[in-house]
Amino acid sequence: MKLRFVLPVLALLSAVVVTPAAAAEADPVTAADACYTWGRTLSQGASGEDVRQLQIRVAGYPGYGGVLGLDGQFGPATKAAVTRFQQAYGLGADGIAGSATFSKLYALQDNDCTPVNFSYDELNNCNSDWSGGKVSAATARANALVSMWKLQAMRHAMGDRPIDVNGGFRSVSCNNAVGGSTGSRHLYGDAVDLGAGPQGFCALARQARNHGFSEILGPGYTGHNDHVHVAHRSSRFWSAPSCGI
Ligand SMILES: [Zn+2]
Repeated sequence: MKLRFVLPVLALLSAVVVTPAAAAEADPVTAADACYTWGRTLSQGASGEDVRQLQIRVAGYPGYGGVLGLDGQFGPATKAAVTRFQQAYGLGADGIAGSATFSKLYALQDNDCTPVNFSYDELNNCNSDWSGGKVSAATARANALVSMWKLQAMRHAMGDRPIDVNGGFRSVSCNNAVGGSTGSRHLYGDAVDLGAGPQGFCALARQARNHGFSEILGPGYTGHNDHVHVAHRSSRFWSAPSCGI
């Protein structure tokens, strides 16, 4: 979003080297950052990579217990997620992603496509290059990105207070070193361990149920009295008995 403030400068510079017709196509309202720019309004029935990019960013709005598919197909679940996102930010809630929705998403993302309040570095336990896990480095990073967008939604829903992240991806050797289980989702990049922060463990564990985390482990579950673990898995597994979950 920082780019927005230098756009007038860029516009002046580009006016020197591009044709007036090309310069006229630039729209300051919908201009994005270095991450991704949507080129059309998206509504139910649309499909493509632009839909998938949208799905990643609204993955934290599937509704209680839901997990949004990231398949590039704009179906009813995507429409519902977009509607919840719009409601969360006071936008017109029609489930159609147009300029107002995209502008909010641009404001929420950094140039590396991470949401503004989370970073790849903090989701990487052993300062690795994301290789050496159970999936490729690219997949591990992509999985972490989705978890960050889920956390951004959760953070906003909890009053925009900072969420304390204690780590995420682990290579096999890193996972062994910290005593992680052999099937840990940390090996896939989508698991994130949360500190109590200002919210407290149980509030975090409860809230995570609304934001697309199919794996939630917290106080009362073996090894999780000092953090809340959120991740993606194929079938739901929530356990934080001390929190009534
Ligand atoms: Zn964990």
